[in-house]
Amino acid sequence: NFDIERIKSMLGTHADFPKEGIVFKDMFPVFQDPTAVEALITNIVYHLTSTHKEKIDVVVGLDARGFLFGPLIALRLGAAFAPVRKAGKLPGDCARAVYAKEYGEDVFEVQKSAIKPNARVVIVDDLIATGGSAGAAGELIKKCDAKVVEYVFVMELDFLNGRKALDAPVYSLIHL
Ligand code: IMP
Repeated sequence: NFDIERIKSMLGTHADFPKEGIVFKDMFPVFQDPTAVEALITNIVYHLTSTHKEKIDVVVGLDARGFLFGPLIALRLGAAFAPVRKAGKLPGDCARAVYAKEYGEDVFEVQKSAIKPNARVVIVDDLIATGGSAGAAGELIKKCDAKVVEYVFVMELDFLNGRKALDAPVYSLIHL
């Protein structure tokens, strides 16, 4: 697919960022070209609308780059958008999920008022590595008695096989 190859060619690669030994994939260069953003969002929305016959109620974006794609996808789907953030950032009654990071653990939260029982939810983020973050977000949605119908990523690091940590279908635009 021409669009996907074009988007892939725009990604930045940064060795030893944010620390030694990590090769960081940067999707911000894609945002320098609105036609690339358009192609990216259109591809994801086409995938979702052709896969899910029942309405998607909420698109959930993960802190922080999931906030860039989530609202664009939600708007096209006619769905709501809700953010998942690190603990202590969201006001009101929140569901919480703890997840393991490379060093220690982290806590994700979502506002319960944003995720109604039985809502059909898509979780989006820029990249899946181990799947730890997305898995914790999935736990949050379950705690709200809602259902994750799919996980969507712009980039997937295939060699880490993070998708095996997730219990709903996974779609990634670009495989690295
Ligand atoms: P995971 O929880 O191990 O799957 O890591 C995914 C999370 O870490 C996502 O929120 C990503 O934004 C972030 N992340 C990990 N590696 C990269 C990278 O190379 N580029 C951009 N984000 C990354």
